[in-house]
Amino acid sequence: MTQTRAAGVPRIIVVGAGFAGLACVRRLERRLPPDKAQILLVDPTSASLYLPLLPQVASGVLAASSVAVPLARLLRHTLRVPGGALGVDLPAKTIYVKKITGEDEALRYDYLVLAPGSVTRTFEIPGLAEHARGMKTLKQALNLRDHVIAQLELAAAANTEEEKRRRCTFLVVGGGYAGTETCACLLELTTNAARRLPGLAPELISWTLADLADKLMPELGEDLGGVAMRMLARRGVNFKLGTSVAAVTDTEVKLTDGTALATETCVWTAGVAASPLVRGLGETSRGRLVVGADMRLPGWEGVFALGDCAAVPDLAKQRDGVEGAVCPPTAQHAMRQGKVAADNVICTMGGRPLREYYHKDLGLVVDLGGPRAVAKPLGIPLSGVPAQIATRGYHIMAMPSIRSRLRVLGNWASHGVAGDDLLRVDMGMDRPRTLAGYEFTDMYPDPEHISGIIEGLESDSREQ
Ligand SMILES: Cc1cc2nc3c(=O)[nH]c(=O)nc-3n(C[C@H](O)[C@H](O)[C@H](O)COP(=O)(O)OP(=O)(O)OC[C@H]3O[C@@H](n4cnc5c(N)ncnc54)[C@H](O)[C@@H]3O)c2cc1C
Repeated sequence: MTQTRAAGVPRIIVVGAGFAGLACVRRLERRLPPDKAQILLVDPTSASLYLPLLPQVASGVLAASSVAVPLARLLRHTLRVPGGALGVDLPAKTIYVKKITGEDEALRYDYLVLAPGSVTRTFEIPGLAEHARGMKTLKQALNLRDHVIAQLELAAAANTEEEKRRRCTFLVVGGGYAGTETCACLLELTTNAARRLPGLAPELISWTLADLADKLMPELGEDLGGVAMRMLARRGVNFKLGTSVAAVTDTEVKLTDGTALATETCVWTAGVAASPLVRGLGETSRGRLVVGADMRLPGWEGVFALGDCAAVPDLAKQRDGVEGAVCPPTAQHAMRQGKVAADNVICTMGGRPLREYYHKDLGLVVDLGGPRAVAKPLGIPLSGVPAQIATRGYHIMAMPSIRSRLRVLGNWASHGVAGDDLLRVDMGMDRPRTLAGYEFTDMYPDPEHISGIIEGLESDSREQ
């Protein structure tokens, strides 16, 4: 892949094509014609993933292609580099990229926007990294769906009551929106499947939702978190609050309250950590790179970090008196930060003062499967069908293209009419299914070695 740029045209590299990176690149494209800047987008995938709808992919409500919005449809003159950025040498203004072929490349930049998002946060819990399943990538969602359907089929064919129960017992750890939605959507799948599969009885199905906190989705407030809990409890979900995981094996999960669950399914959504890419680049707050309200990395002109990987000050909350508040890792903030970061790159190029990011949270929407949801749009608490209308309306409006909106609407309609086909595609059954394996967190070299690696690489073929 070669691409030349006219002399004097600055290069902007954006790392990550998620909510933050994509919004940034689209704004840059609109405001900077190709003769004013060369824009490079580094991401190993060819689509921007709409993560909030992953639980609906896992539960078969949506097709994978509906939530993976192709970058080729969204971008015009940005040059895409299909690979992962594994390190940044700030003094040399160069990033180290491993392309999807495995080849290494060093890319020089004039301006850098870091938006690689977050990865699943794990702890030193025996067996967790090997046996738990995550919900951060499309492969994980598809693999979880396959796994759950396989468990039901195996349970239906099992000879012993013990095996039937073990395979029909499911544990989700993490009572935030990712864990709660995953639990609720998959509960819908398993309940419907149990009615249809001979050899299974609905009363065999058991879902447990565990979290170290003493309430569900505290960000929704006391009332709505409680409503969500009651809705799920009525459908049979067991709650283990104030509890986490002590050890995981293939067939059992030991909990910190001393109990053990015989299960083959432990879904781990208990928190996120910033991408390993930002390690060593500056001060961090709970692992997220500390940046100013203008998203600039302190001390490095022209370098910005945003989205889940960065601790961007939440000026709206700070002005309401919450000292030191930083924006929570949500799509809502990431998308809006992307636009401001693009403006700030352009201001830096023109030597103008930078904008500060200020956004008042618009509230949360949480899909609880089927017609159920809880939502707090603009501070108004909703539950049941009105909340589901608000939830679906919010997602449709937030999707980045009309095509993707139409696909999602079509999937909702066909699933509503025809239900789930319970099709297993054996996605990723041939790969080691560890958390690190799916999220490539084991590929990042030690930050101390980045300069040495970059020095050893051939010069960038895109330079004239
Ligand atoms: C299951 C689930 C449900 C959620 N529900 C909601 C919700 O309802 N509402 C809400 O506001 N938020 C929700 N979130 C959180 C929201 O999705 C994130 O806060 C948001 O995606 C963060 O945006 P980002 O751009 O920082 O990162 P991402 O959107 O994660 O994008 C990161 C991008 O960087 C790429 N990348 C990663 N590492 C590298 C690298 N080294 N080099 C190059 N590219 C890289 C990735 O491929 C990806 O394209 C949910 C998250 C999950 C997992």
